[in-house]
Amino acid sequence: MKPTPLIELEKLRVEFGGSAGRRVRAVRDVDLTIYEGETLGLVGESGCGKSTLGRATVRVTEPTGGRIRYRGADITTMRGTLFRSTRADLQMVFQDPFGSLNPRRKIADIVAEPLLRARGFSASAAREVVDDLLDQVGLGREAGGRRPHEFSGGQRQRIGIARALAPSPRFVVADEPVSALDVSIQAQVINLLSDLIRDRGLTMLFISHDLGVVKHIADRIAVMYLGEIIEIAARDDFFAGPAHPYGEALLSSVPTLSFSPSRERIELSGELPDPADPPPGCTFHTRCRYVVDKCRTEAPLLRTVADGRQVRCHLPLIPLKGSE
Ligand code: SF4
Repeated sequence: MKPTPLIELEKLRVEFGGSAGRRVRAVRDVDLTIYEGETLGLVGESGCGKSTLGRATVRVTEPTGGRIRYRGADITTMRGTLFRSTRADLQMVFQDPFGSLNPRRKIADIVAEPLLRARGFSASAAREVVDDLLDQVGLGREAGGRRPHEFSGGQRQRIGIARALAPSPRFVVADEPVSALDVSIQAQVINLLSDLIRDRGLTMLFISHDLGVVKHIADRIAVMYLGEIIEIAARDDFFAGPAHPYGEALLSSVPTLSFSPSRERIELSGELPDPADPPPGCTFHTRCRYVVDKCRTEAPLLRTVADGRQVRCHLPLIPLKGSE
């Protein structure tokens, strides 16, 4: 059966900054479709624009160009009551939930808030949902009477997840949801998210710089570099061997994930270039070990390679579709 698009981004752009010359294009004309029921892992180095893309997808950060469609409807500039109810379908789980949990409020009130505000629940109906959610995320309903500072980092992330799920969203952006947690706690939170995705039929954009974490939860992988998507692949295809030289280097730098034991570790030379002044041509050419003259002047387009994945490279590591 053909997958149904839930979120469609069309030439989505986010720019920050003051004077025209120093404007940072954090997200550069991204086209991306996220299908109903899938978890799309968005990976890349810190500073590549992946968090900004996630925030812009649900309009926590307003895009400066392009379009966002949710279930076919253009929500890019939607306002008022219609946007409030649509927005309840689109939620975020943040890296540091503590920063967004009001320390003076009880957990039950924090989790109930989106139900009362966006879904019009009565206080007693909201309380029932909150109790169930606190049980589902493993905190137990008695946690509702306590305040955020009484919980550990992992528990606070469970509260953040309960709050995001309270209005029964269809789509959740999870932005580095486990990177602030101890490794021993990370697996528990990932397992919880996996269970909730399965039980609730959620669609998720899961953002992480950690390929080991993404491998456990994503169905497809999108790789971002300097504000652009440079590879989109099924999870198993990507981990069997990336088609873009940047993905190849990223994966080779995680010893336990190296796709082929015979491949050497590929050092990425230099730093991520300044997003306010990206290199001409292929933006990865300053660090790419396969660079040729054309890469320095001509920006590659996102093209489909033999196994169906999409790659933005003049010399992809897998042959282009039709040329194999
Ligand atoms: Fe490397 Fe050229 Fe491909 Fe860019 S286009 S990733 S520089 S081979």
